[in-house]
Amino acid sequence: MSGMVYLGSDDPDFGWEFRAEDFVYARLREEMDAATALHEGSARDAAVARVESLRLAVVQHSCYVTNDGYSQARCFTCDAACGFPCSTMRYFTRMWRHHPEYKPGWNTELDRDSGPSDWQQDMLRVAARGGFRNDFLAERAQGQTSPSKGDRVT
Ligand SMILES: [Zn+2]
Repeated sequence: MSGMVYLGSDDPDFGWEFRAEDFVYARLREEMDAATALHEGSARDAAVARVESLRLAVVQHSCYVTNDGYSQARCFTCDAACGFPCSTMRYFTRMWRHHPEYKPGWNTELDRDSGPSDWQQDMLRVAARGGFRNDFLAERAQGQTSPSKGDRVT
């Protein structure tokens, strides 16, 4: 078994690293096909632009496997502490969480019986307010997650 540090292609888990992004790209392909099938016009343009925007965000979150068999995420905006597959890709999968190929394990932190974690509740509140600035203006900034828990200064 020397040198065999990665699953063989006959292993049922072969390629597990890529299932979340494969799932997302497959759904976006379906949505792009549906968008381009619309009659030309503003609704078609909007539908195509929507999928293109999602693709641009998704493509910044890619998996790869190193020669020594380690699964890695190549993310431009995720921190390594976000887990694997990365949180962004897992949140994208959640858009189609009622699809038969969706794996509930991709979002157990959000969908667990006890509800989203404190950090995720902060993020959901910030998103509902329309960003950190609006959350700050609503005087909730003191309740925001500390920088050590996920903020990145650029
Ligand atoms: Zn990512």
